[in-house]
Amino acid sequence: MITRFLLSPFNFTLSNFATHRICVEDMNVPQIYLSFDDGPSDGCTEDVLKILDRNNAKATFFCIANKAVLKPNMLLAIKRNGHSIGNHSLDHKYSSFYKNTASIKNWITNAEDLFHSILGHHTIGFRSPAGVVTPPLVNALTEMKMPLILWDLRFFDKCFSWKENSIKQSLKKVSPGSIVLLHDTHYGNRKKTFIKTLELFISHFQQRGYRFESIPYNLTKQHQ
Ligand SMILES: [Zn+2]
Repeated sequence: MITRFLLSPFNFTLSNFATHRICVEDMNVPQIYLSFDDGPSDGCTEDVLKILDRNNAKATFFCIANKAVLKPNMLLAIKRNGHSIGNHSLDHKYSSFYKNTASIKNWITNAEDLFHSILGHHTIGFRSPAGVVTPPLVNALTEMKMPLILWDLRFFDKCFSWKENSIKQSLKKVSPGSIVLLHDTHYGNRKKTFIKTLELFISHFQQRGYRFESIPYNLTKQHQ
């Protein structure tokens, strides 16, 4: 199976620089790429891992490096379970976007080094906090030959409880290669509802022939 990365670093505008979907040549089995941002976090990450395993689904976790170093075993559990890991910055601070290209490169590299020290390899690429894309960020990632991976579907689960009724609405929005943005940072009743909806979402699309995959590590290589 060949995965093509949709990044165009030599001819971009801010709107098409990033990849929002994964293009896979084998379209016989449609795929969805779930992604969980802002972890790892106690309780929620483990619960998400359990649901994914129970439903034979793979996903991608865009972790914050400063959180990951405090919970290296959780990062290793994500890896051990066959999911991929992305760089969601060192600290999720929006102030970094006001800095110049060199400072942003440092910010991303410092995070990447922490991930490498735990995993023994690099992440799949970068996802900026809140998906913000600025010219210095584009320059930094281009110079680093690092993919910027965003999404084409989100449920605003950080602001509102993710509920079952959103699944039917998402039928029209999901297509093969879709990247779905979620968060593994929920607690209490919000987490209970989130986990229940996650399992329903997975089974709903599996029944329609979709397979849940992790975003591959070879995006950049394939592109080069
Ligand atoms: Zn985030």
